[in-house]
Amino acid sequence: MSEPRVVVIGAGVAGISTAHVLQQNGFTDWVVLEKGSDVGGVWYWNHYPGLTCDVPSQIYQFAFAPKADWERVWATGPQIQQYHRDVVDRLGLRDRIRCDTEVLAAEFDDVSGTWTLTLNTGETMVADFVVCATGVLHNPSIPDIEGLADFDGDVVHTARWDDSLVTDGRRIAVIGTGSTGVQVVSALQPKAAHLTHFVRSPQWVLWAPMWLPQLGLVSEAFKRVPGLLDQTHRALLWASGILADVVTTPSWRRRAVQAYARLSLRAQVPEPLREGLRPDDEPLCKRQVVSGSYYRAVKARNASLVTEGISRVEPAGVRTADGALHEADLLVLATGFRAHDYMRPMRVTGRDGITLDAAWADGPRAYRMTAIPGLPNLFTVLGPNSPTGSISLQYSADLTAKYIAQWLDRFRRGEIDRVEVTEEATAEFNRQVAEAMGPTVWNTGCNSWYLTEGGGIDLWPFDRATMDRMLAAPDDADFHVRSTATRG
Ligand code: NAP
Repeated sequence: MSEPRVVVIGAGVAGISTAHVLQQNGFTDWVVLEKGSDVGGVWYWNHYPGLTCDVPSQIYQFAFAPKADWERVWATGPQIQQYHRDVVDRLGLRDRIRCDTEVLAAEFDDVSGTWTLTLNTGETMVADFVVCATGVLHNPSIPDIEGLADFDGDVVHTARWDDSLVTDGRRIAVIGTGSTGVQVVSALQPKAAHLTHFVRSPQWVLWAPMWLPQLGLVSEAFKRVPGLLDQTHRALLWASGILADVVTTPSWRRRAVQAYARLSLRAQVPEPLREGLRPDDEPLCKRQVVSGSYYRAVKARNASLVTEGISRVEPAGVRTADGALHEADLLVLATGFRAHDYMRPMRVTGRDGITLDAAWADGPRAYRMTAIPGLPNLFTVLGPNSPTGSISLQYSADLTAKYIAQWLDRFRRGEIDRVEVTEEATAEFNRQVAEAMGPTVWNTGCNSWYLTEGGGIDLWPFDRATMDRMLAAPDDADFHVRSTATRG
């Protein structure tokens, strides 16, 4: 037996899932490094006003740590962040997680077959395996708008919100119309002196009552009736399979959801405002935005919608292409993320000096979301092609972590000491992905963070059964596996 030294990078949904699997499988030499000051990942970094998860809480949770008494059907960001903290404490994972610890570089040594990690603390750490659980929506995308640095008021990106910012009574400009922009506009408009929403590309917004409480008797039933919480979670996972079908396969169900999106706009917004809010693309093509309050917010007297392009930012506000100056005291950038960075800016250098930047010059690419040619003994959880648009993230993180644990177990049993996915298997998986993207709604012609530099769509186009099958057990034929017996 040779216990693998494992470093997990990131303590968000993917990192907590991985930690739980390592713990459950009796691995003893592992640590989670987290650059933030607490666990939670996106839920730690994001705390902008209005942050709510548009996936119901009873499914947006770990199957191994179900919570009976969510306060709301769609929990708020702070409630979800608290849940992650509670799970880590309850499962006894806290001692394994080192916060405020960023991995700046990871380099594979061909001779020893180990990874050396360079940390922000000045330390180095040696690992047999690295698991990158670094998330997708992590690095804020700051728009390249002329004059941004000259703005006299406050500028803040939603993913790095400053809780001391005063928002009430101010003239607020918000740039961005994704899930974040819609939430922050809805939250800030009621108490703003004026709110201007800059909409470069409008998005379809599905109406849903996001404020709905989870009834006390439901929470009580979950606590008292044995198995009910678990069964409900399973039922919701099954139902989310239908949602995945809506985006992956053309059907009357897809058309019904799309009709509902169009109705949400038509029923709530009168012309001429509706014209500015009507997207050119199909509903569901981008990550679907869900809100019960956005249209109300932009219709308010103290709000204006600006669809004219931004030409520059000036000290007093935002100048649009038509020459108008939209004065503001606070500029909120809801401009999204560099979603394809994944573990970067960490510098990753694999076998034979192969760098991740070079390997991913045309966009992120992995085998079954988890293995990358040229990077032996390194895996990703919620890596490229993860189902951010369909299947439960917690489910796929858990499944991937269990898959990785099987490789670690073979190392522990002394069977193997090095494993690297082949280029052929990765190319074949990516060919299957590209083919399966054909009938998906994401392939109907829209521009979003789903698209990679190379023109691919960075999502999971298959159903959950396919994911189960692909990650059930490692297939040695797809890997260069070095057994300890042949090491020489
Ligand atoms: P996003 O969907 O990428 O949207 C970014 C927005 O910024 C777009 O409207 C984009 O316009 C606009 N933008 C960027 N640069 C601009 C510029 N120079 N001038 C004008 N507009 C500009 O980002 P996000 O809203 O942060 O959402 C990202 C993802 O986070 C979501 O899709 C979702 O997966 C996740 N999220 C989830 C929740 C939840 O409730 N579960 C909440 C928030 C976020 P264009 O479209 O024209 O490029």
